[in-house]
Amino acid sequence: MVGEREGMSRRGLLRASLLGGVLAGCSTAPGGASFEAGPPLVPIRARPDRIVDIAVCLRPFRPAGPRVETERLGDTLVVHNYGHGGAGWSLSWGSSARAVRLAMQVSPAEVAVIGCGALGLTSAILAQRAGARVTIYSREQLPQTTSARATGEWTPDSRVALAQAAGPGFASVWEEMARTAFKTHRDYLGLPGAPVEWIDQYAVSNPTPRNRPSSDLNAPPAVDFAVYRDRIDDLAPKWRRLPADATPFKAAAVAQGEIMIFNIAGYAHTLMNDFFIAGGRFRRAEFHAPWQIAALGKKVVINCTGYGARALWKDETLTPVRGQIARLIPQPDVRYGLVYRHVLAVPRRDGIVVQSFAGGEMKGYGDASETADRAEAEQAVTTLAEVFPD
Ligand SMILES: Cc1cc2nc3c(=O)[nH]c(=O)nc-3n(C[C@H](O)[C@H](O)[C@H](O)COP(=O)(O)OP(=O)(O)OC[C@H]3O[C@@H](n4cnc5c(N)ncnc54)[C@H](O)[C@@H]3O)c2cc1C
Repeated sequence: MVGEREGMSRRGLLRASLLGGVLAGCSTAPGGASFEAGPPLVPIRARPDRIVDIAVCLRPFRPAGPRVETERLGDTLVVHNYGHGGAGWSLSWGSSARAVRLAMQVSPAEVAVIGCGALGLTSAILAQRAGARVTIYSREQLPQTTSARATGEWTPDSRVALAQAAGPGFASVWEEMARTAFKTHRDYLGLPGAPVEWIDQYAVSNPTPRNRPSSDLNAPPAVDFAVYRDRIDDLAPKWRRLPADATPFKAAAVAQGEIMIFNIAGYAHTLMNDFFIAGGRFRRAEFHAPWQIAALGKKVVINCTGYGARALWKDETLTPVRGQIARLIPQPDVRYGLVYRHVLAVPRRDGIVVQSFAGGEMKGYGDASETADRAEAEQAVTTLAEVFPD
């Protein structure tokens, strides 16, 4: 994530870039020579007519952080594992490891998992690895779920909790989940379909043109999202400043970092295969009340219903945070990410993801609309085009 290596969040960095502070805290590369010796940076063909998909989803945000705890429903032990905000993919293996530990305390031969997004699948696979037979019950499965509409970056503290609402022990729990997830993601590097990979990312900035208002972009968030990034600073290389003329971008200033990304289509495919190869079963089902889950008659159920838990478990603390991504036609030779003027580009294998962060980290907070905004997507792509030679 941009800015992580600088000790600031992506949101923080995006705000800072408008203030001209994009490079603060970066070390400086010794010169352009070694950079220029690398493979050439192929320009992104950033044109609105190349948008092939616009996807909207709701981040399942809980002020207190994800709910990973047990509850009794008659004879059934329910382990909750939902509410991961903008960090569901990133924290998945770590959060699911905690959930599966709770589930296996009663030594079940069989485990039911409700939900088949990032949290449901990783819980199911970890329960299989712990020796249980697993059935997933769900209304949808990947790639129909919210998880399939995520950006695909390692962003483990993105909108994961509110600083004031998260309990005093949550930061340590978060760190354990993030470190466990980071280690497990490493096992998916170098596999067919590149489910997980590392890429270079460039934060590029230019002075804001006079006619472009920037005050709303720099506005501080109305709620105080918790930031834990500095606890795992050791997990990735530091960002560094590059001489602007050492890159082909039309830019006044450039910083470079390395980030982990998830190629969501390939990753989802890999996880589904892993689950079925290990003997997993899938049953399509929709639940409207907890008693229907108890009626399954299972000893242990792991509840991974994401934002669906708001209606199903009456968890009114679950707050939707709407987000939208656009995908451009894939360019296999573009292997770097970019951040420029509140627009993020991620070179996923299934298309170059372009996402606008105009409006800051509060963007979409409390908004449950899943209607696509084509104008926003086109604006983001047009903004991105500014950094490439005509
Ligand atoms: C625009 C955007 C970009 C994002 N980018 C990133 C990113 O780069 N990195 C990152 O880590 N995270 C990102 N996120 C966050 C991430 O997408 C979520 O945290 C994650 O998808 C949540 O996964 P989940 O498995 O809990 O929920 P879901 O994927 O929503 O899965 C829930 C499952 O439960 C099922 N279900 C729900 N209710 C019921 C019911 N009543 N009965 C039966 N089944 C039910 C659903 O069918 C589904 O299978 C992003 C989110 C958005 C919106």
